[in-house]
Amino acid sequence: MKQHNRKDCILCGEQAESIIHLFFHCRVAREIWELSPLHIQQDQIQNQNSIQQIVQDLLSFKGKHPYNDHLFPFIGWRIWKARNDLFFNNKRWSIPDILNQAISDFSLWQEANNINTQHFSRLTTINAKESPSSSHSTHSNTSFYCYVDASWIDPTKKAGIGWILVDAHGKHLIKGSSSIEPTNTALEAEAKALLEAVLQVKRLNYHQVTFCGDSTSLYRCLEEARKQCHPPHGHMEIQSYLEDIVELAAIDFRFKFVGRNVNFLADALAKQARTLESAYVISWIS
Ligand SMILES: [Zn+2]
Repeated sequence: MKQHNRKDCILCGEQAESIIHLFFHCRVAREIWELSPLHIQQDQIQNQNSIQQIVQDLLSFKGKHPYNDHLFPFIGWRIWKARNDLFFNNKRWSIPDILNQAISDFSLWQEANNINTQHFSRLTTINAKESPSSSHSTHSNTSFYCYVDASWIDPTKKAGIGWILVDAHGKHLIKGSSSIEPTNTALEAEAKALLEAVLQVKRLNYHQVTFCGDSTSLYRCLEEARKQCHPPHGHMEIQSYLEDIVELAAIDFRFKFVGRNVNFLADALAKQARTLESAYVISWIS
């Protein structure tokens, strides 16, 4: 095993640890920023050599989306905590866990800022009423939400699936992820991810769950089938998945298309499972 040099970055072990490296240039940090709801592309910060400039760029995201407002310091804080936990306790946090913690800190902070929260929930309600396809999720009709995603590269490589179950107050309850055998298309991987999520959530005995995903072809088709009370007709390649999903869902489960910016945790879980080629893991979130 390679001896750890105290000057090396503990997250990647590839370069010297400096503030700018740890928070922004490190490949682990860059992946965290990219998978976060801010969706900061890796090259946006990679070529930037001044922290001041990067922070200024991050601040410019402010106001674009209510959810992203002020989020970035919480991500930075959790990168720092993850670095310390690895350094002092030899405990490595996964990227989805780092993001999960950052979002949960952010939500607590928002709750503490009562006015902010009221403003945020009003925005969410208005947006949801105005457009059913709004990227904001509504927490009005059902008790639970399950965000689902797949990560797919090409038909020869293993794909990844991930899901996270959230209650009506936005509290994260359970997450699941796995790598899966290669599928012909990204859509097929999405359908497989949803079928798996429905199976597991049903097995865990949850009722009144809305499954949310960012694949238009899949979720729009299921939304329609539910509204019109007819069997879903989707693309041929996923027809058998659709039938299984609808049968399992019965009257208990619903489906909703959401934007990628709210589906980032499921996305991060799926991507991690694909790259690590991991087996199925289901865990409760404390
Ligand atoms: Zn590093």
